[in-house]
Amino acid sequence: MLIILKKNADKHSTQEIINKLNDLNITAILYNIEDTPIIHFSYNISDNIDVSFINRYDTVKTIVNNENPYIKTGKQQKNHKSVITISDISIDSGTPTIIAGPCSIESREQVMETACFLKENGVKFMRGGLFKPRTSPYVFQGIGLGGIDFIKEAGERTGIRIVSEVLEISDIGYLNEYVDIFQIGTRNMYNYPLLKALGKTSKPVILKRGMSATIHEWMMSAEYIMHEGNPNVIFCERGIRTFNTYTRNTLDITAIPYMKGMSHLPIIVDPSHSAGRSRLVPALAKASIASGADGVIIEIHNEPHKSKSDSEQALSFEEFLKLNRVLLEIASIRD
Ligand code: PEP
Ligand code: MN
Repeated sequence: MLIILKKNADKHSTQEIINKLNDLNITAILYNIEDTPIIHFSYNISDNIDVSFINRYDTVKTIVNNENPYIKTGKQQKNHKSVITISDISIDSGTPTIIAGPCSIESREQVMETACFLKENGVKFMRGGLFKPRTSPYVFQGIGLGGIDFIKEAGERTGIRIVSEVLEISDIGYLNEYVDIFQIGTRNMYNYPLLKALGKTSKPVILKRGMSATIHEWMMSAEYIMHEGNPNVIFCERGIRTFNTYTRNTLDITAIPYMKGMSHLPIIVDPSHSAGRSRLVPALAKASIASGADGVIIEIHNEPHKSKSDSEQALSFEEFLKLNRVLLEIASIRD
């Protein structure tokens, strides 16, 4: 078990807790993580030893037991679901949040055409990566800062909100001005310094599940962001590695209702990177919304076959429109 003490906890009461535990034959170790004093001690509920005296100390912030390490993300920490708001838009389990757009920001024309199309069809969020974390260093890596003006213009002219991936701590500062939701990609779910840096902002963060991450690891990554003070985390299931090779990843549909039971935070699904093929995307998106997802993030392109990255999985505008209608219908009849 861990006793997280307040940063200003006085030495006297801290030592008193340790002494009382020692009196009960419990070994307690005091250490500090970034100025926060923490007492670790081994304890089994089955030992039936009364340690409730700990709760009486004002200097105790939280007690974390082994079964429940989810201090900020866990459902028991809040008895209602977190609603994340971006100006007048809220991300919750009411109307699903639909995010669509290209894998990569490529040109001004592409960005404006996509933003106008989405806006006309009532979609409030456009995705698009300026920096692309690609498996091969020899393929398109994103246009980088050169695309900032495109997303800025798209936002200003259409009011569309921008979702974009951040790869490096040094990019957070200026992206913060133009991006409405930061995306942490699957490869960076374990990049704790980056997560901590995003935790120091107040901007919503879509935290994609690492491609081989357990639910526990995923929630702990969210803890890294929230522990720094940013409560606006949105989980995104995007498929995981399994023995199957017929899709790019295996969409873990079960993670949706499971996470709803574990956490008060919203969860959305990326069917595009799960499927890896446009033909499969609609079915996965529909299953996700039916399973209770708070939204989806889908790759679309004005000319899918010309997409500079992930062209095989991009939906055309027409395919997306058809799907969007069905998703809203499914959402209207789910419980
Ligand atoms: C993306 O959204 O374009 C992307 C690279 O996703 P992921 O991190 O899930 O692979
Ligand atoms: Mn992509």
